[in-house]
Amino acid sequence: MNSYPELQPAARVLLGPGPSNVHPRVMRALLSPVVGHLDPDFLRVMEDIKKLLRLVFQTSNEITFPVSGTGSAGMETALANLIEDGDEVVIGANGVFGDRAADAAERLGAKVHRVEAEWGRIVEPERLEAALKALRKPKLLLVVHAETSTGVLQPVSELGRMAHRYGALFAMDAVTSLGCLPVEIDKWEVDACYSCTQKGIGAPPGLAPVTFSTRAMEAVRARKAKCRSWYFDLAMIERYWGADRLYHHTAPITMNYALYEALRLIAEEGLEPRFKRHLENSAALKAGLLAMGLELAAQEGYRLPQLTAVRVPDRIDDAKVRADLLRLFNTEVGAGLGPFKGKVWRIGLMGESSRRANVMLILSALESALTAQGMEIARGAALLAADRAYNDA
Ligand SMILES: *Cc1c(COP(=O)(O)O)cnc(C)c1O
Repeated sequence: MNSYPELQPAARVLLGPGPSNVHPRVMRALLSPVVGHLDPDFLRVMEDIKKLLRLVFQTSNEITFPVSGTGSAGMETALANLIEDGDEVVIGANGVFGDRAADAAERLGAKVHRVEAEWGRIVEPERLEAALKALRKPKLLLVVHAETSTGVLQPVSELGRMAHRYGALFAMDAVTSLGCLPVEIDKWEVDACYSCTQKGIGAPPGLAPVTFSTRAMEAVRARKAKCRSWYFDLAMIERYWGADRLYHHTAPITMNYALYEALRLIAEEGLEPRFKRHLENSAALKAGLLAMGLELAAQEGYRLPQLTAVRVPDRIDDAKVRADLLRLFNTEVGAGLGPFKGKVWRIGLMGESSRRANVMLILSALESALTAQGMEIARGAALLAADRAYNDA
């Protein structure tokens, strides 16, 4: 008979691009009893999740709920419901996740117009506007708020109004921003937005919070043909998450418990203090990295507080540094993707992981791993710079 070992995953310090660390209260919520997906107790949790999601998305949108699936399922939901055959769609492409949305939109039958920018730079709003202007009838503009592959923060607050001037809807990928940075759906006139549970929200991966404006839902209801996806068809899902309670698919009960508890933690902390915590830890991390002589990959002035892309110095073995961090410091950071493969590390300080202790840990761990490969670093300079940043904050 085969014997299979008991699961024994290590409890890592997760400082990559997600998943991030999960609060013990959220882990405990996962152990709550599984009930039926139409159980009155579960229906109450569903209603509270919708309310709490409206709080973090800063919206009054009725259609606000977690899609069953990871962040990419949220993306598919937004695109599959808003795109009809031949629709003209403008997508900002300056990293992995803009490219992914462009690929998905194309598969759904859209004519995609990619507005590209160099990796590490924002997509200039004027270029997005020019792309909209050039089209007779643009249907949708989509950008990535926080591009996790490069560490770039895209300015988005005016893009909704801009898209509306050209008769287009505005969709936004907030997979890495929700719970770390202000995401102001109503104020910015965002029509469709998707996120995930495992980055800024601080729950395990498995659900994708989404929100759709009245304008977006009018477009969904005015579709000529049914949504191309059965599973992500909002017209059907809203009858389960809405008042009808009509069975569509079985909601992942325990993941919804986890999301509920994670959102309760966010509400207790408050959005403003939470954003401030992310900014302070990020400022200390960046000060430390620069003091160590490292360079940041994202354009100055547009750097994310929750995800920092750091250039791998010449003659340093990227994979060996990451292996040392994991083996000697039990800490995970992310590797570079695409054109950044082997060229950057991605250090995440998202949600629960955004802690002063983690900033000091990763700075001293990096100092040790880089020194081991012969890089000359003034020992202690990074920790000192980080300390100063905290004291100045
Ligand atoms: C992680 C990520 C995604 C994909 O989310 P999954 O949960 O991995 O499916 C999409 N967009 C951005 C910006 C991300 O960081």
